Amino acid sequence: MSTPKVRVRFAPSPTGFFHIGSARTALFNWLYARHTGGTFVLRIEDTDKERNSEEYLSVIYDSLRWLGMDWDEGPGKGGDFGPYRQSERDAVYREYLGKLQAAGRTYEKDGAIYFKLLGERSEVFDEHRKKTVTKVANTPAVIEDLIRGHVERTEDEDFVIFRSDGNPVFHFVNVVDDIAMQITHVIRGEDHLSNTSKHVELFKAFGVTPPAFAHIPLILKSNGPGKMSKRDQGALIEEYQRRGYLPEAVVNFLCLLGWNPGDNREKMPIEEIIRLFDLPGVNQSNARFDEKKMAHVNMGYLLELPADAFVAHARAYLERHNATAALAAAPAFFREVMLLSQPKVKSVEELPAYTVYFFSDEYPVDAKVREKVMAKGDPKARLRELIELLRTADFGSDLALETAIKDLATKNSLGFGDYQSVARLAVSGTNVGPSITGLFRVLGRDKVLARMERFLAA
Ligand code: GLU
Repeated sequence: MSTPKVRVRFAPSPTGFFHIGSARTALFNWLYARHTGGTFVLRIEDTDKERNSEEYLSVIYDSLRWLGMDWDEGPGKGGDFGPYRQSERDAVYREYLGKLQAAGRTYEKDGAIYFKLLGERSEVFDEHRKKTVTKVANTPAVIEDLIRGHVERTEDEDFVIFRSDGNPVFHFVNVVDDIAMQITHVIRGEDHLSNTSKHVELFKAFGVTPPAFAHIPLILKSNGPGKMSKRDQGALIEEYQRRGYLPEAVVNFLCLLGWNPGDNREKMPIEEIIRLFDLPGVNQSNARFDEKKMAHVNMGYLLELPADAFVAHARAYLERHNATAALAAAPAFFREVMLLSQPKVKSVEELPAYTVYFFSDEYPVDAKVREKVMAKGDPKARLRELIELLRTADFGSDLALETAIKDLATKNSLGFGDYQSVARLAVSGTNVGPSITGLFRVLGRDKVLARMERFLAA
């Protein structure tokens, strides 16, 4: 017997902005489809008319595209099992409701349609809800979850599948579509594990073997207990897009939230991740969101970008953020500044502040840095010595410049850093930046000397 081809689905409800939890669920589905040569379906669960919005929906599409998660079937793509928006599938739900009705598995109460469990019934007073409810002695639903392992849960109360307003309930449409779309593996967040027994009961009532389930552990906030929420810093995918993160880096980072290749590797090409990804490899324990790690992964990807690609990526970011001074610079100079910064920034969002003094003489001076630098020895004397040196030094070679400054420092029984700190303060107003010699070279002798003289005069 051949195993059926894998069909997975990402089934978002467009009721809020697309956050990293959803993106990771989408990604694990996409990876599993690509790993197995299966089909990745995008299904929009938009039956809750009050809470859905077209804006949220377009953010989902944009974010998936930005991250490179192409869907094989779904909105805009088509497929044999459409339509792929639940709001357009009313006829399917009526048909499936008919099947349950014909099998005697439904009843109506107060205008709502209930799904009827099998088993002995008894009236019990529920302390918690302060009312009498009908309990059903049902056998437990057994779930061999591919991540969580063996899970048993018993549904002991009938539940609503169509509300009194005529709209079908999530559990019903979710299961009907998994059947109708021939889904083989349901990969979703662990918050849905508690729904799975209801779903299993529905599958059984339709006479269908449930798909395999894989519930992915939660993502915890970076600090403190609790699940990451949409309001937490770093939670929204579009935020990374706006901040100029590389989508490859975001995808790589998302993979590591609950999965690893079994060694300590973090940065991996997507082809390698696809090759290695499998559901039993997903961790059972919750993953913790770590914004620093995200930035670190992004930095690794930035470092590897070819020069032209980095410069183009930087320019695109600066254009979106109207960095007029940088954009007005001569292209060759702009390129030099960007390449000097490439190994130093974690994300291109740092570039405006990081490079401000290259593109304008009116850059901010960090008062704290100034105080610290000026408190040590005779910084103005050191700067005067440097000016003398730089008048004739070779600006064409970072190494030659560095050697010349080192020699000067040695001659005066000082360190390289003593000269570097005051020089950096004088020409850039800060104590962070690229190598001082690279900074000198790219800024050029005239500017460097002029800024140092101006500093001394101030
Ligand atoms: N619409 C559900 C959600 O966004 C999907 C649940 C599932 O994947 O089965 O959480």
